[in-house]
Amino acid sequence: MQRSLTRKKRGSRNYEKIRKKLVKLHEHVKNLMSDYIHKVTSWLVEQYDEIYMEGLDVKEMVENNESKTLRKHILHSNFSKFMSYLSYKAERAGRRVVKVNPAYTSRTCARCGYVKKDLTLDDRIFVCPKCGWVADRDYNASLNIFHAGSGLPLKPVDRKPLLYIPFSEGVYSKFPGRSRKSPSRGGDAPSVRAG
Ligand SMILES: [Zn+2]
Repeated sequence: MQRSLTRKKRGSRNYEKIRKKLVKLHEHVKNLMSDYIHKVTSWLVEQYDEIYMEGLDVKEMVENNESKTLRKHILHSNFSKFMSYLSYKAERAGRRVVKVNPAYTSRTCARCGYVKKDLTLDDRIFVCPKCGWVADRDYNASLNIFHAGSGLPLKPVDRKPLLYIPFSEGVYSKFPGRSRKSPSRGGDAPSVRAG
């Protein structure tokens, strides 16, 4: 639609028609995204007493990033919106959001603490050269964030795979797991998965 707009003559009736349609479409996508973020943040606050997250400075990330594509992705990720929704909902519900220093959360081995300095953004799997721990990069980082935020020894945050709600499902279908589960921290949690 954007392309067909650039082909139309500025100011013509067709141009106006398509421009209005485009504005509506952008608005619609924005609303879907807000709705989605509302649902995810409500779900998180319902499920957990404490939420640990990296204290990322979005503004600084955007300004200091050399990659134009990455800058665009950061800006479009709605991360600031997510953080603000989560913070006010947590406060209202009496939950705690703990911000963790984001330095080396991805580069540190969650099992032995080795810092892998040459990890790049393309490395989706974390492989520790020291202890042999192999894990999804984000899972490894989430364990480090959990550890730093809670001060607890490393244990999986959840027995189930990490929450993943496809965008379309989050918006159009009933949200999973509305019931608040009793917190089960520690206890007989299995050791960190995948060796
Ligand atoms: Zn290791």
